Amino acid sequence: MKTVKKCPECESKNITFSTGLQLGMIYQCKECGYRGPLIIEEDIE
Ligand SMILES: [Zn+2]
Repeated sequence: MKTVKKCPECESKNITFSTGLQLGMIYQCKECGYRGPLIIEEDIE
């Protein structure tokens, strides 16, 4: 099983992430420009 991360706005898998100073992980979508701590994680086989 693998986990795929998807953008909550456009469901793109083209996601990068960086570590915020005190906020934890910040995800960024390369497709729509979404940026934030929330992401969809989907399990695939
Ligand atoms: Zn997006």
